Amino acid sequence: MSDREPERRPAEQRPPRMETLARLPVFLALAGKRALVAGHGAAVAWKAELLSAAGANVEVFAAHPCEEIRALATETPGGAIRLHRREWQATDLANAAVAVGGFADDSEAEAFASAGHAAGVPVNVIDKPTYCDFSFGTIVNRSPLVIGISTDGAAPIFAQAVRAKLEAMIPRGFAHWAQAARRWRQTVRASGLSFAARRRFWQMFTAFAVADPDHEPAQADLDDLIARTREQAAAAEAGSVTLVGAGPGDPELLTLRALRALQSADIILFDDLVAHEILDFARREAKKMLVGKTGYAASCRQDEINALMIALAKSGKRVVRLKGGDPLIFGRAGEEIAACRAAGISVEVVPGITAAQGAAARMAVPLTQRRDVRRLQYITGHAEKGGLPDNLDWASLADPGATTVVYMPNRTIGALTAHAVAEGLAPDMPAVAVANATRPEQTIIQGTVADIAARLAARGVSAPVLVFFGLVFEDAAEAADPSALPQRLQFS
Ligand code: SAH
Repeated sequence: MSDREPERRPAEQRPPRMETLARLPVFLALAGKRALVAGHGAAVAWKAELLSAAGANVEVFAAHPCEEIRALATETPGGAIRLHRREWQATDLANAAVAVGGFADDSEAEAFASAGHAAGVPVNVIDKPTYCDFSFGTIVNRSPLVIGISTDGAAPIFAQAVRAKLEAMIPRGFAHWAQAARRWRQTVRASGLSFAARRRFWQMFTAFAVADPDHEPAQADLDDLIARTREQAAAAEAGSVTLVGAGPGDPELLTLRALRALQSADIILFDDLVAHEILDFARREAKKMLVGKTGYAASCRQDEINALMIALAKSGKRVVRLKGGDPLIFGRAGEEIAACRAAGISVEVVPGITAAQGAAARMAVPLTQRRDVRRLQYITGHAEKGGLPDNLDWASLADPGATTVVYMPNRTIGALTAHAVAEGLAPDMPAVAVANATRPEQTIIQGTVADIAARLAARGVSAPVLVFFGLVFEDAAEAADPSALPQRLQFS
């Protein structure tokens, strides 16, 4: 960073306000409570079954109960189901926790809803949203882990598809782990472990569940987890720094380990380069601070970032230093690691997908070739003082057997390519600039070493951008039939 560049102070970044919610998902505790169901038909029977499964004592009012309801009353999934062979009356609603009706007729639906309101009971009338205080979500059941899905009635089929995806994604064994969590909660609380250590216990518990969902958790697992937690407790309470690679932008490129670090952080110090979508994956309570290091705009001083990071870790916080791409590539991680070590703070590095890898993957261009391109080099176009670094190895840059990726090329790519051509690089060597790699607004500009700087300037790209050059992009040019690429990947 040049001393001439403007500075800024680390600043807490408050998460944006919650976006509007069409529905508020709440999970009703119905065990032992009275639930009223009125009406006829299979849909009514299904609601009675749901309510019973949730432990409610269900009273069904139906003068002519259908086959399903009669069968259900003899074989309930949970709470008792009592069948009254008559129509419902307003007095039946008293003391009910919820009331569900199934009526073809709007006037009966309305009467039911007003009886519910008079009795202070929330009402659902099946398939008649006007008369509903609440709706039933589509469910993925790994009880006590329960997921409810709603589209506010906008797209039931969509909700079903989401449910199918979640069903496939969430192992059935999670139910056993969630049950074990419920059984073990009290033991863990009484174990003498501190609050921070208990959180660590539950993180390890979760990691176990995710790694081996089909394993039936047993007492030996609990003992083992508590023992491990005790071992780690001392270290955990001392605070730590984890340098985490956020990848180039697309949150799906985060590693599982990065995700875990984000979800157990007390505080996250992040750079401008980090896509906002990534922060959505962080623990909600984690404080998020923009420490704004960019190559060009106002930046926080590195020593200030180091000091902040160390002070926080010393006060016992789990600090995540979140950096764009991979932290060990052009990220000044060396200075941060050295500062932590000097302060006696444990530091871990979680790699990320570097921008070049993200961009190459999106273009599906291999960066090496078996016979002709045997070297891949990442260089920076930006020296500490702001200009082109004065110690680049020009012979390597001119080598046709290498693929070169220029990070931070914005100000210097013209000078860099001109110098490389003067040193023998073929001016017609294919070159590609990729801005906002892996993000929805990704842009790819194609040219040659001779004209890529001008093409980039003509587009006025201010976003993070990389410039690639090398023979590997020759094929890419041939393959770059715009009609064959999805819109957002089109070459321009
Ligand atoms: N550690 C980062 C690089 C930090 S240097 C990594 O591994 O990717 C900052 C430079 O990285 C930017 O100037 C730009 O050249 C490049 N960069 C980072 N994210 C990018 C993205 N999404 N698209 C294109 N270039 C990116």
